[in-house]
Amino acid sequence: MLELKLQFMGNGIDVRIDALSLPLGSGQDRDPNFATARPVRLTEMPAAPSNGRTFYIETFGCQMNVHDSEKVAGVLLARGYRLVERPEEADLVFYNTCSIREKAAQKVFSRLGQLKPAPNRHGSEPGSSGAGTAQDGRVIGVLGCVAQQEGEEIFGRAPWVSLVCGSASYSRLPQLLEELEGGNRRVMGLSLDTEETFETEVTSRDNPYRAYLTIIEGCDKHCSFCVVPHTRGPERSRSSAAVLAEARRLAEMSYSEVQLLGQTVNSYRDPSPHGMNFTRLLVAVAQVPGIRRVRFTTSHPRDFHQEIVNAIDACPQLCDHVHLPVQSGSTRVLQAMQRTYTREEYLEKIAMLRRARRPISITTDIIVGFPGETEADFEETLSLLDIAQYDGAFSFKYSPRPNTPAEDWPDQIPEEEKGRRLAILQEKQRQIQIARNEALVGQTCEVLVDTRSARGNQWAGRTTSNRVVNFTSPRESLLGEYAQVRITRAGPNSLVGGEVI
Ligand code: SAM
Repeated sequence: MLELKLQFMGNGIDVRIDALSLPLGSGQDRDPNFATARPVRLTEMPAAPSNGRTFYIETFGCQMNVHDSEKVAGVLLARGYRLVERPEEADLVFYNTCSIREKAAQKVFSRLGQLKPAPNRHGSEPGSSGAGTAQDGRVIGVLGCVAQQEGEEIFGRAPWVSLVCGSASYSRLPQLLEELEGGNRRVMGLSLDTEETFETEVTSRDNPYRAYLTIIEGCDKHCSFCVVPHTRGPERSRSSAAVLAEARRLAEMSYSEVQLLGQTVNSYRDPSPHGMNFTRLLVAVAQVPGIRRVRFTTSHPRDFHQEIVNAIDACPQLCDHVHLPVQSGSTRVLQAMQRTYTREEYLEKIAMLRRARRPISITTDIIVGFPGETEADFEETLSLLDIAQYDGAFSFKYSPRPNTPAEDWPDQIPEEEKGRRLAILQEKQRQIQIARNEALVGQTCEVLVDTRSARGNQWAGRTTSNRVVNFTSPRESLLGEYAQVRITRAGPNSLVGGEVI
């Protein structure tokens, strides 16, 4: 589980997102997307007069959640709220939650426990009057997947919570805020029955050089392990005109890299008469003047076609990286997972990517210990790693989730066995990454620089293949620039080098 925090940095213009915890022991590889704390410009910030109130927002989970928090912050800033650094300083405390695995969901309740007000003088429990506000007047809100999943029960478990809103209802946030401001002490937005996407002025972004851009929300795939269709609702694509207008705004604000987001980003279907499919939209975004790099995540293998690889080949702005979650190497398990492809069909997609004219880095997600996974199934996943030769993998122990078909299947795998399989898989993948990264020693890569270390002449950034490169340069000012870096050393998760000047 990954946890992020939007922080105010003092001048009313900058926020930053801190990676607070990356518990490697939980089986998740370190996610390079969130490895550094970075200043963020509050771009497009409407000059809303202060309403005298402050907010704090903490994000758990995936890039989609990080970007949702950026949008929620935008809604609040536009209403005159000001972002603060710590929950104790805020009038409004929001937790944007993740429920993809049980541990992530539990974390939120432990956070909420920390905000529990002391019993009042008469000894009664906070919120026992039925009011949902903390006694100190703070308004506490739970957003995102746990909000959608637990719904009204959150008020029962933490009566000091005032707002519960799932991501499919974020378009109702301004209205819910109005109700809170009007004195209503318990408000909820939980409808999944929506055709709307969450359109808002995005005012804060987690990285001044790379911007997230949602193109599709929700998911219709219904994998038997996954809560996403239940927590984020059905697939809703934004119009290509809205996406392209946002891409142009980002370029004008001098973002040179954009990352198109969706739970199944390549299932995009333009609802407007332009009728663009994912590939056409991808190319159109790449052609926006000023945009130098375009990434996209997450692709579902079912909708991953040769056309996308052809576009990457034809269009230099499209990055040399595809994240293509496989989940398992066993067709039997894939069928139980309702993934809609076989091992062979998935490997054909990998072969398609390997036949591209330029080397495309491939990363994946894998679940071990899915109900009924035998030792032979697991061996098939290991052998798939040998064939696919991934450049990175996020790997997880299966976690039974509410409202999913696999939740109470009888043949659950014991935790200890899941842990054993995960350790074996991660060690194998580590060795593959070491070998693949070592093959880059001696090469020169272009790096978009996003971090300067305290030591001054040390910098870090990413290649088009999404590898983290730490490098030295005598130059004084490199942030946001593209540097040519010669690779001198390689580890499993990053490269080391020096700038070629
Ligand atoms: N929508 C994407 C897809 O279907 O490929 C990714 C969604 S999810 C946010 C990211 C990853 O979490 C999944 O690819 C999967 O590997 C993992 N995951 C989802 N549900 C899980 C569960 N119940 N237990 C363990 N891992 C899970």
